[in-house]
Amino acid sequence: MTDSLFSPGDDRFSDGLAIHAARILLPVEGPVMENAAVVVFEGRVVDAGPAHEMRAKYMGTIHDHGDSIICPGLINAHCHLELSPLRWRLSPSGSFFQWVRTLVEAREQIQPSEWQGAVDQAVDELLKGGVVAIGDVGNLPVIPEMILHNWPFRGIFFQEIIAPRQHIAPEVPDTIDGTEQFGMALSAHAPYSVAPSHIKAIKLWDSIKGIPFSIHVAESEDEVIFLRKGTGALRELLEEKGHWPLDYALPCSSPVRYLESLGVLDSDTICVHCVHTDEEDLEILAKAGAHACLCPRSNMFLGVGSPDITAMLKKGINVAIGTDSLASNDRLSIFAEMSSLASICPDASPEEIFRAATLGGARALGLEQDLGSIRRGKAADILVVRSGPIPQKDALEFMVRTWADGPPECQILSRGAGVKVRKSHRRRIAGTA
Ligand SMILES: [Zn+2]
Repeated sequence: MTDSLFSPGDDRFSDGLAIHAARILLPVEGPVMENAAVVVFEGRVVDAGPAHEMRAKYMGTIHDHGDSIICPGLINAHCHLELSPLRWRLSPSGSFFQWVRTLVEAREQIQPSEWQGAVDQAVDELLKGGVVAIGDVGNLPVIPEMILHNWPFRGIFFQEIIAPRQHIAPEVPDTIDGTEQFGMALSAHAPYSVAPSHIKAIKLWDSIKGIPFSIHVAESEDEVIFLRKGTGALRELLEEKGHWPLDYALPCSSPVRYLESLGVLDSDTICVHCVHTDEEDLEILAKAGAHACLCPRSNMFLGVGSPDITAMLKKGINVAIGTDSLASNDRLSIFAEMSSLASICPDASPEEIFRAATLGGARALGLEQDLGSIRRGKAADILVVRSGPIPQKDALEFMVRTWADGPPECQILSRGAGVKVRKSHRRRIAGTA
């Protein structure tokens, strides 16, 4: 960074200006730096560069973090915090369909008294793991109510709609508004659980609000079989629930091609999972500018396969990373997800995977103006990871591969000021029947 808000000389004297120095800086949008510093003022990044230059250029409180890595806060672009009471309660069955059935039953057994403690613990885990923004999905009021009270993240809450009958309009609670730092959106659960007219209406609602739309896509082979042939375990599930026969024509297509045919893929669409995608699917996602949010540990838990981040990046798709819920993961750690991705896709570079966990997530959630990298003018939601004396060349490798169980010490330094997401109001979707 060459320009700055504060020029050398008298103008550099400023109350509240902080210089955070560390051995290694990972700005994401720029090369890894050694012995570097980030200059912060009123919750915003003013400058970043070699520590000696920053110290000479600015006068402020110096925080020397020593053998640490400074980097942008991590983004968990897909989680379901309302399912946090289910930690350890569901075990992998090897069948996606069986897991869905067990999940529905287990969720009904959650006692109201369990939520606060379980969600508090999950929030604490996310913060200790360096997460500064989340894309949280749910269909209960528990999380929206918490968001209104000192929610420690930025991001989007996606009110999830499950509505398999085309002629029955989904009920959407009209209870709360978003906050300045946390927007409210609608999301469709999946192509097999939401009728096509409802998927289009939900996407339209989000588009009008200028907020991202999210949907689970191509998560399991069962989903692919169902959409192509109308058979398999997911049809059994719909039959069980009284939603079969469908009141719309099956697409007989891949999940991604189906969403394309509905016109819901664009640069404000987050396609979560994308495990079962072929080359044509990826080309469609790339052309539309849609984001892929990968949750590799959840996929492994459910035994549904693994996403191919390398193929997605080759097509130019923006990739984000999420943990999914504690019903299909044993932790909410983006470090663990990065490590899994690195193992699954050895061709992906640590730089690419770290970018997905930061800037990729910020882009998917529409927060890249403020988050995802350390750059002048962005929010100072900065992470300091106590790394020890590792070589500069190994810093990204350490971030991505070494700390699957979390780094030894990970601290969010500052919550930036003025990060705003578009507010929205949840209403009944009109005209979906
Ligand atoms: Zn999910």
